[in-house]
Amino acid sequence: MNGADTMDTSTLKVIFTSGLVSAFAIRHPYQRENKKNKVAVDRQTTREKALLVLVIMGTIVLPLIYVFSPWLIAANYQLPLWAGYLGAIFFVVALWLFWRSHHDLGKNWSPTLQIREGHTLVVNGIYQKIRHPMYASLWLWCAAQALLIQNWIAGLAGIISFGIMYVLRISDEEEMMLEQFGEEYKAYMQRTKRLIPYLL
Ligand code: SAH
Repeated sequence: MNGADTMDTSTLKVIFTSGLVSAFAIRHPYQRENKKNKVAVDRQTTREKALLVLVIMGTIVLPLIYVFSPWLIAANYQLPLWAGYLGAIFFVVALWLFWRSHHDLGKNWSPTLQIREGHTLVVNGIYQKIRHPMYASLWLWCAAQALLIQNWIAGLAGIISFGIMYVLRISDEEEMMLEQFGEEYKAYMQRTKRLIPYLL
């Protein structure tokens, strides 16, 4: 493959790093608010904490090692030009969805499985379309990571780590919501899908 058919690695790195900075900027005000809210029900098990560390490694630490050091260079791969553009489009959609779900969830957001004091069930805004828009945004994010970070280790670490967390967490989260909100959540589950409207 000659140089013109691929996107320049430093361009890809700049796109990825600015996406990561944007995601931090979006989350920051909610994270600060979240600390003030008292926890009423805590399902934050050791497994949940371990999963969070795994996802931070896969989506932040390994990509940053790839961007700022030469250590992972032996595992690089090269994708055609379209992959860079597709990754950038996925990234923008993921960031929008990330912002939108934080905005609509408001004070009810927490990084692990918890119910806050005064927790309300959100079924409006983006939550009217799907039950897990924040996780949908992270799936898109991880797909973008594999397209932009063309490296077998740092590129795929996102999909693998978040995939494991998603599979292990999703039914526990819905079970917790069912226990907390009963019939209201049951009805909400019946009229919505998890990640893609009408589909999945
Ligand atoms: N799974 C959701 C939220 C992720 S944040 C999404 O992907 O958009 C995780 C926390 O959000 C959970 O601990 C739970 O307390 C809370 N939560 C999940 N769905 C909710 C809803 N519809 N209304 C209010 N809180 C919700």
